[in-house]
Amino acid sequence: MVIKPNFGKWLAVDTLDSLNKYILITMEEPWKIIENRITNKPTYLEFNYDMSLDSLEKFYNSFEPFITDDYAIVGMGGGTACDSAKFLAWKFKEEFNFNLELYLMPSIISVDAFLCSAIAVRIDNKVKYIGESNPKDIIIDFDLIREAPEFLNRAGVSDTISITSALGDWLIAKDEIDEKFDQSVFNRAKSIANNLVDSRNEIRDVTEKGIQALVDGFYKEVLLCEGWGNARPEEGSEHFLAYCLESITHDHYIHGNLIGMNILISLYLQEEYAQFSSDDIMQFLDDIKLNFTPKHQGISYTHLKSALAQVKNYVVDENLLYSLYNLPTLIMDNEKIQDIIKFVKTF
Ligand SMILES: [Zn+2]
Repeated sequence: MVIKPNFGKWLAVDTLDSLNKYILITMEEPWKIIENRITNKPTYLEFNYDMSLDSLEKFYNSFEPFITDDYAIVGMGGGTACDSAKFLAWKFKEEFNFNLELYLMPSIISVDAFLCSAIAVRIDNKVKYIGESNPKDIIIDFDLIREAPEFLNRAGVSDTISITSALGDWLIAKDEIDEKFDQSVFNRAKSIANNLVDSRNEIRDVTEKGIQALVDGFYKEVLLCEGWGNARPEEGSEHFLAYCLESITHDHYIHGNLIGMNILISLYLQEEYAQFSSDDIMQFLDDIKLNFTPKHQGISYTHLKSALAQVKNYVVDENLLYSLYNLPTLIMDNEKIQDIIKFVKTF
């Protein structure tokens, strides 16, 4: 179950200094910032960038002989550092029934990994979720986060603002395949998105209030989805088009920027099902200076066209949640694709 994070100035430093023995799993950038500020150095310091299950198992094995049940595990960094720490704590619980205290300290608010209980690993190069983590504390250190590039922190908005297009997909699924629906969950999701939209200036400037709004949005969204049982209120066609494009190009994009572009395409295609206007959301993404145009992301129109041509088959092949791309009335012929590209060129 997701826990409420704690906020503070240099709170990561204070927390690390208060620990006994600890393993710190981090990345070079946050470590450089924190290293000289802490007096209580980690017993073990590790950098892990490989999230494949095989490599994580090896990572665990390298600690297994040394660790006793009085260690704490700290993940400080982006999604990779946090998920590596979650994996290690989970594995020690599985193998030795150790309840090692787990601390998660995002150094950047670009993905919600620091809040999700599920542990994301890669198996055969696909993201799979294994095990559950129970962090003792989630630390949001304003000063540490503000050291990260602003454009990356702002990109964190997309995984909650994706609610704006996910809700239209949910209504489509409700009408077309009679999918389970709950009006109060739907309304709560909508208010999370509206709160973010209202905090646009703070998010743009990545102020303490802006960081708080981003984390708050993540927290409420994760809480909502965990309660509901899946990501339906937050994830839909905007993510599916992203996965489809990535499967074609094998390129690595900044998740938030790509989702930003796809939200607009989804809202455009959802027509009367759209719960937010594409103009309003485009204005919001513009206001917070998100780099969501294809040009800014190095996405060619040729690749975007291929993704659009293939996405209807892709969602069926991958057995993804029912969304606008399953609609029989949506015909992705040349004319339709040209029409979408024309819309994208207005960004
Ligand atoms: Zn996402």
